[in-house]
Amino acid sequence: SLQGTTTLHNGVKMPYFGLGVYKVKDGKEVINTVKTALEVGYRAIDTAALYDNEEGVGQAIKESGIPREELFITTKVWNTDQGYDKTLKAFEISMKKLGLDYLDLYLIHWPGKDKYVDTWRALEKLYKDGRVRAIGVSNFKIHHLQTLMEQSEEKPVINQVELHPYLSQKDLLSFCKKQQIAVEAWGPLGRGRLLNDPTLIEIGQKYGKTAAQVTLRWHLQNDVIVIPKSVTPSRIKENADIFDFELTAEDMERIDALNKNERTGKDPDQFLF
Ligand code: NAD
Repeated sequence: SLQGTTTLHNGVKMPYFGLGVYKVKDGKEVINTVKTALEVGYRAIDTAALYDNEEGVGQAIKESGIPREELFITTKVWNTDQGYDKTLKAFEISMKKLGLDYLDLYLIHWPGKDKYVDTWRALEKLYKDGRVRAIGVSNFKIHHLQTLMEQSEEKPVINQVELHPYLSQKDLLSFCKKQQIAVEAWGPLGRGRLLNDPTLIEIGQKYGKTAAQVTLRWHLQNDVIVIPKSVTPSRIKENADIFDFELTAEDMERIDALNKNERTGKDPDQFLF
């Protein structure tokens, strides 16, 4: 079911499947998109201060009438707000825009150079104060996770990174697994770029599924959380229709073999601020 959850290392349950809203415009567009997703059964929404649509996300949540405890809402602190005090302030602004009294997951959006440990202190405080049920990171490489863990009390529950069949991130995945840090894929569809891949199309034909559905299913069978983005109602439905088939071990291997370490986004080590 769409409600399938993984248990984070602090005991909080998080849906394996949700909606990402990067580049969805605040106002009507994001309100309609989130409402459509909630109507077809999505319960997790991934936004960020950067996306500038937290108000619309909050509005859609309110209008949906779905009980708060059934939803799992993620937002992120942007790079320019890193540092202890700035992050605490940024959190309050995000919460006001979302219109929520607690958050499910707060993430450091990018590691940057040398402020992420201080930023993490702020997330730890928000967690201890009960403002957020879980805290994690995004775009962290193994060395960032190691530095953070050496210098902190709380271990991140999750690392949200670019991950798809053309960027399989095997080493990072096995490191996170060992550390009980959940992995969440951003750009799970390679931002649309891998949907013409002949292997993915061919595998899909066996099951009557699209390349997008095969790709999302590959993530889930790898124990990876996904948040595909679409503003098109038919695709929002299509992306969620992945719980009635199973890829074989051979299918999984064929998809693994598509890896070419190809990023669509920035390399975290080269995105310094
Ligand atoms: P994605 O891989 O989800 O691809 C989205 C694009 O694929 C859409 O714009 C659409 O054109 C296309 N698409 C979606 N479903 C389709 C379908 N069924 N058939 C054909 N085309 C389809 O890319 P994304 O939006 O970049 O990533 C998903 C989410 O991850 C974002 O919305 C955001 O929430 C998050 N994200 C986080 C970071 C980060 O730094 N933490 C960076 C990028 C994205």
